[in-house]
Amino acid sequence: MKWLTILLVGVSIMVFGGEPPYIPVDHPMLREQAQDIPVEEICTPRIQGVIDEMLALTVDERKENRMVGLAAPQVGIPLKIICVDMHMTIERIDFSPPLEVFINPEITWYSEEMESFREGCFSTGSLAGIVPRAQKIRAAAYNREGERVELELEGYTARIFQHETDHLNGIRFPQRMTNFSHLHWIELDQIEEYRANYENWPHTCSQEEWLEYGGFST
Ligand SMILES: [Zn+2]
Repeated sequence: MKWLTILLVGVSIMVFGGEPPYIPVDHPMLREQAQDIPVEEICTPRIQGVIDEMLALTVDERKENRMVGLAAPQVGIPLKIICVDMHMTIERIDFSPPLEVFINPEITWYSEEMESFREGCFSTGSLAGIVPRAQKIRAAAYNREGERVELELEGYTARIFQHETDHLNGIRFPQRMTNFSHLHWIELDQIEEYRANYENWPHTCSQEEWLEYGGFST
């Protein structure tokens, strides 16, 4: 419960996890359910401060041409807040628009049509993979002003929204994979290479290696 004490005294999330502020891949919080934020608390300085810190982190990462989404548990805060790139597409790689914030997101409908594409994550360390996801979703959430929003998303945006919402339920992308020959080891400086060649990436990670590295078997 240390995080709660820290949050209540209003200290920046940057105190978590050192440099950068992500919690370790094997941290139990990455497997746990995050907490709903009462709607009347969304506009409080505490929650707005957490959102500002998350967005600041995404701005820094996007200067390095990475990060299309972030969920609060990834930086040690088990609350239902996600940031999502609503503009990126598979064809168009542009890291300039800011991410949008969604609170208490819920996916209310998944299309039967699935699509597979590459994903990486700051909470799976050196792993990336080809993940099947619903091609379209409908979702509901609150924005940072505390207003209810309803969304219909498809393609890459739907993928990011599903990935980040999964974090709030203790799920990371390898748990959505059915074919572990599509789970890959990559280094941070290989991201560009991986984007171009992910379908034929030679460095595969078995399910056992993933469980040992940071997954869990229950
Ligand atoms: Zn992630």
